[in-house]
Amino acid sequence: MATQKATPQSQYTETDRLARLTGTATLASDDREHIPVEAPFTGDVLGSIPACTEADVGTAVERADEAQEEWAERPVSERCEIVLEYHDRVLDRQEELLDVLVAESGKARRHAFEEILDVPMTCQYYADNAPDYVATREREGALPGLTETVEHQHPVGVVGLISPWNYPLSLAVSDAIPALLAGNAVVLKPAEETPFTALLAIELFREAGLPEDVFQVVTGSGPELGTPLIDRADYIGFTGSTATGRIVAEQAGANLMKCSMELGGKNPAIVLDNADVERAAEGLIRGAFTNAGQLCISFERVYVHSDVHDAFLEEFVSRARNLRVAAADDYDVEMGSLMSADQLEKVSAHVDDAIAKGATVHTGGQARPDLGPYFYEPTVLTGVTEEMELAAEETFGPVVSIYEFDDEERAIERANDTDYGLNGSVWTEDSERGRAIAKRIEAGTVNVNEAYAAAWASLDAPMGGMKQSGIGRRHGKQGLRRYTEPQTVAEQRWLPMTAPPGVPMEWYAKGMTRAMGLLRRFPVLR
Ligand code: NAD
Repeated sequence: MATQKATPQSQYTETDRLARLTGTATLASDDREHIPVEAPFTGDVLGSIPACTEADVGTAVERADEAQEEWAERPVSERCEIVLEYHDRVLDRQEELLDVLVAESGKARRHAFEEILDVPMTCQYYADNAPDYVATREREGALPGLTETVEHQHPVGVVGLISPWNYPLSLAVSDAIPALLAGNAVVLKPAEETPFTALLAIELFREAGLPEDVFQVVTGSGPELGTPLIDRADYIGFTGSTATGRIVAEQAGANLMKCSMELGGKNPAIVLDNADVERAAEGLIRGAFTNAGQLCISFERVYVHSDVHDAFLEEFVSRARNLRVAAADDYDVEMGSLMSADQLEKVSAHVDDAIAKGATVHTGGQARPDLGPYFYEPTVLTGVTEEMELAAEETFGPVVSIYEFDDEERAIERANDTDYGLNGSVWTEDSERGRAIAKRIEAGTVNVNEAYAAAWASLDAPMGGMKQSGIGRRHGKQGLRRYTEPQTVAEQRWLPMTAPPGVPMEWYAKGMTRAMGLLRRFPVLR
């Protein structure tokens, strides 16, 4: 096993540096509690973060609110320039970002690099399109020629973002980019397990020219900071588990505020009788074991047609068994660690329960304390039945159940037989058939002959969850417009929107009735 690179500990434990980054006034003379941040590869403490308080959230939102006005007044082209400068900085400083990402998340460097790619791609897409998405548009007026109507897009104000630990860069920053371009300020509450990536990412944004208070971070506990952030922000964007999402959505509902929820999944893949088995196995290995399966759009259920089942299983198991799993931060590592003791406990409990109830383990099925405290082997199961916990619950680990099918209709039914609806995947050499089946999978994104990257990286198209996997969408026009308040301004000219002066109401009613009939029959008049 290669040696782990030195963690950037000293740089990220300095209190006043954190104080500046967290945007809170009093942290330099800090008497707050500190939350230790662990390095999953070793279990050692990497550094610590201040446990911000409700008052800190208040201060951050207040400052964001003040800064937002000036930010929104700038031309959108100026905001785009800063975002494009940020694009370059993330690429230029990627080694530093990757070191921090790997150190605090324990993921393989190749998986951390996917996050590096995601951020500049998002910068480029929204810098290209934001001017169009926020532009004031003329709309068809109520009475042609008499009503002049326009639609404005106003920023909502201060966007509160709450992000999880599994993609600490991507999920902290990529949802903020369209919010900033729309003229909002952002206050981010990153997961307490992975705050340093977010802090460094925001520092790069400031270096790129973003005014300091326009994007701030408050570090600390979700239950403690979540409520004050929801109560003070104008919009809440939450990414995390369905259980927490429900709590956040209830609070947002009580405030009648706008929100989006990006939640969990139990994603199905279907391998059809005419699939290229090697291609499907290669893709679904990435789909199942990227970030040790701690990816919301990864695959935990694979339905394989009986014509190719045995060949697929053999190829898939052999690839899973040969993955290079290690606590090292070079690009050759193919799977890293689970995030924490809690994650290891949940994954082990799911697999142990399945084994106890009769599932067959083809490879894996065990923790690997010899590699690091939270490592777990890539695990492939068959014979999974409904009474096993992992049949329906999200494991969020490197564990895949393979199911054989003969009847395609039944496979689609089983794929959809879940409360979740985040991502799906169909493998076939017949692209028309693949796309037709994809359309019937109840998930916000479905990939044909890919696991997740094709849909995720199609930034022009919406991405998010059906059913219990979410509310709203990131990416595409919706991904920016969710952070705006559309406003219609309509000017009425010459004639009022009622009977003109001197015209009896009865005549007006008759005239309007006749006009409606004509407009219905002769669309050219509309
Ligand atoms: P989590 O729900 O435990 O935590 C997510 C965030 O919410 C963290 O910042 C946490 O501090 C905060 N939080 C916790 N309790 C809170 C509360 N009461 N009020 C407000 N905030 C609170 O999720 P996690 O364990 O960090 O992440 C894993 C889950 O996230 C998985 O279910 C995964 O599928 C899901 N996820 C979804 C997406 C997506 O885009 N759909 C992306 C990544 C992860």
